[in-house]
Amino acid sequence: VEQTLSIIKPDAVGNHHIGAIIQRFEESGLKIAALKMLQLSREQAEGFYAEHSERPFFTSLVEFMISGPVCVQVLQGESAVARNRELMGATNPEEAAPGTIRADFATAVSANAVHGSDSQASARREIDYFFAADEIY
Ligand code: ATP
Ligand code: MG
Repeated sequence: VEQTLSIIKPDAVGNHHIGAIIQRFEESGLKIAALKMLQLSREQAEGFYAEHSERPFFTSLVEFMISGPVCVQVLQGESAVARNRELMGATNPEEAAPGTIRADFATAVSANAVHGSDSQASARREIDYFFAADEIY
């Protein structure tokens, strides 16, 4: 079955939305196959978002991602990558469809509550970035 990486970002952790967000994953039929909370180092955040290193918002994105703890999950199920992206909604919460996680919990494009892998290839890289094989159930 397909797996994807999900991150509950520092804004949503700080606003006490961990439970509500994980409930949406579980209610949609995605299984939580791994879960941990951690404070990213600057190096970890830069490495995770390396594909965006030339973008103008890169420094503020990294600052935001290290501004507090995050909650990292492996979600598992059929079409997990696409289904998670659907649950998340558009990157900019002002454009996110009603009922999506970002519409309900994000406050800005720069503080948008969740990350989700955008392809099966990035999911593999991102899962390996945070989890050892024996941490995934
Ligand atoms: P993520 O990768 O976090 O799941 P995404 O795939 O929807 O989000 P990306 O294009 O990969 O969006 O951008 C990564 C992150 O960079 C976004 O989640 C957002 O927080 C931030 N970002 C993207 N565009 C902007 C922007 N124009 N201004 C500020 N931050 C931005
Ligand atoms: Mg992305």
